[in-house]
Amino acid sequence: MEANRIYNFNPGPSMLPLEVLKEAQAEFLNFQDTGMSILEISHRAKAYDEVHNQAKADILELMGLGDDYEVLFVQGGASMQFDMVALNFASAEKRGNYVLSGSFASKAYKEAEILGRGYVAASSKDVNFKHIPAQEEIKLSDDAAYLHVCYNNTIFGTEYHYIPETGDVPLIADMSSDILSRPLDFSKFSLIYAGVQKNLGPAGVALVVARRSMLEKSPADLPTMLRYDTYYSKNSLYNTPPAFGIYMVGKVAKWLKAQGGLEVMAERNKKKAALVYDAIDNSNGFYAGHADKDSRSFMNVTFRLPSEELEKKFVAEALENQLGGVKGHRSVGGMRASIYNAMPYEGCEKLADFMEKFHKANA
Ligand SMILES: *Cc1c(COP(=O)(O)O)cnc(C)c1O
Repeated sequence: MEANRIYNFNPGPSMLPLEVLKEAQAEFLNFQDTGMSILEISHRAKAYDEVHNQAKADILELMGLGDDYEVLFVQGGASMQFDMVALNFASAEKRGNYVLSGSFASKAYKEAEILGRGYVAASSKDVNFKHIPAQEEIKLSDDAAYLHVCYNNTIFGTEYHYIPETGDVPLIADMSSDILSRPLDFSKFSLIYAGVQKNLGPAGVALVVARRSMLEKSPADLPTMLRYDTYYSKNSLYNTPPAFGIYMVGKVAKWLKAQGGLEVMAERNKKKAALVYDAIDNSNGFYAGHADKDSRSFMNVTFRLPSEELEKKFVAEALENQLGGVKGHRSVGGMRASIYNAMPYEGCEKLADFMEKFHKANA
């Protein structure tokens, strides 16, 4: 870690690998001998084309997906995907089914509701989203167009540790905050999307990975930019794409491959999370975790302190120790440590150390 940088525990936008930032910096003024920055070249230029297609190929490779899947880059963030999913796949006759497991899951459902196409298949709202609903709790409607899940709940710090069985009903997942953090059988999902600013790059791009059969034909009455088939048929180049964001996503994907892929990342992420969860569990209740143990997220660790006064003090003193962005979301309160792929092991070690010292000094 460079002396003038902090361990950035912000939930998103969030920490990016230092190697990736440096690489982008080194070629910033003259991208591949074009005499231009990546920010200045045409999205129709050959140099850009390679960036675009390589990023797509690397993402499919990391996910272990074959030719029956396609990668799209869409603007509007994950929130735009809430709309596109409901518009492209749900209707008044075939409703989008949703598991409400947190804020973003509920926001996705709300968009379907606005269109009169939403159905709640399960919810953990009554316990302030401290766990992920179990398979047995999910009750699909007879007319289900799809089941939408939010795979990692960024605000509440919970994550799925199973893939919901949906039979013939397509499974759609918002993986904004845990995309490419661990290997999964991604072929169980018909469509996965993620705002990339949590785990993959800068804000401005949503990554969509979907079965081709989902993307080939959108409803006739949808405007061009809201149709998946527009992005699909034009290789996400119907209009000017968020080229810099896609370039950074490509660099992060390459970095992930160089680390050893998703198995290695999962191993690392598990160890990192264990450091922080152990600091909570070994504190005799000084730190209280929000998530039920069997739903704990490897990406966002949420916990409270005995008083709001101590929480304020914790945030301030953490920053003095190069640990930034640990303040939690107002709907949970307390702290949240977001420890995505780019957070090094030492960052979590430092945080766990600090938590122990802070506990001793303030018990
Ligand atoms: C941050 C986040 C969103 C919202 O992403 P935007 O790109 O800001 O629209 C949606 N879902 C999850 C799980 C998130 O973490």
